[in-house]
Amino acid sequence: MVGDGIRKSGKIIMKKFILLPLIILIAGCSNDMDSTIETSTDIEETFNWRLVTSWPKNYPGLGMAPERIADLVEEMSDGQMKITVYGAEEQVPAFGVFDAVSSGSHQMGHSGGYFWKGKVPAAQFFTSVPFGLTADEINAWVNRGGGLELWREIYAPFNIYPIPAGNTGTQMFGWFNKEINSLEDIKGLKMRIPGIGGEVLKEAGGIPVTLPGGELFTALQTGVIDATEWVGPYNDLTFGFHQAAKYYYYPGWHEPGPMLELLINIDAWNSLPKHLQVIIETASKAVNQDMLDEYLAKNNQALTELVEVHGVELRRLPDDVIEEFREISNSILDDLAKEDETISKVYRSYLDFKNNVSAYHKISEDAFVESRNK
Ligand code: CA
Repeated sequence: MVGDGIRKSGKIIMKKFILLPLIILIAGCSNDMDSTIETSTDIEETFNWRLVTSWPKNYPGLGMAPERIADLVEEMSDGQMKITVYGAEEQVPAFGVFDAVSSGSHQMGHSGGYFWKGKVPAAQFFTSVPFGLTADEINAWVNRGGGLELWREIYAPFNIYPIPAGNTGTQMFGWFNKEINSLEDIKGLKMRIPGIGGEVLKEAGGIPVTLPGGELFTALQTGVIDATEWVGPYNDLTFGFHQAAKYYYYPGWHEPGPMLELLINIDAWNSLPKHLQVIIETASKAVNQDMLDEYLAKNNQALTELVEVHGVELRRLPDDVIEEFREISNSILDDLAKEDETISKVYRSYLDFKNNVSAYHKISEDAFVESRNK
């Protein structure tokens, strides 16, 4: 669109518009400006958006994902769009992100869907549920298995458009000051574990506690709680949990591959030109994978440091405890799906996908990794 360009002496003088670098390149190669490509970028229409998150500013992994999305969008749009990222509590509380984007007070947010389970119970399936999908699997379900359409459908009444935006990979069960040798050891165990994982622990006789990340170290050190889950070695090392607890248990059955979300106010989204929408979707997709790569590249180095330098005792949960947790989880999810038609629809799609992908993984990834590691 160069409607405001004025043709004069065989040249085009641009009013209000700048030409793309490609045009400058062509102009530099030829004196014949009649072949000028009729494409331009309107420099008057720039977008300065604010993005609120549930993470401390610049927190490794989680907090860097929105920063990277903002950087990519600015570079890819050649400065047409700038996104300023705010950490938790800077403009809204950690768990106020959904409401801020929904109301339009902020155009964007970065968080995890399971935090909104009070408002949108089905949102948990788009982050992580116990014994659910791994990172690769949830990427496949959301991006290619019908998940994204359902996700957008359930967020639309809140005026929010979600985009996948990061994954920590399989987490650890967490830090313990008590040994878990049998189901008996779960009885009375006071553990910080949010969401459905907490409900499972409660059903098994434990006492789930919800505390923000910043309070976990002191609570563990002073014995207010016996145990806490957080993320995995890379993040847990930065919080220093090894100074407050002796045992580090796996596997993280409660969060097998949580997907994070970029939330966009729908009115703000609709105000963007198409190319900026594509840039945001593409940047977010790149960061969704990049964050997983970051965790995978760094987790084992951090784990080695925890075990070899700090003397942490790495423990696997006993099989009967895992089995009990799995049975309780499945029954809680079945009950949840009976609550309403929306949850039921999402759960059916999720479960179908999980059954299919598990069957295939048995003879592909699972079989191969088992052979490789023998
Ligand atoms: Ca966690």
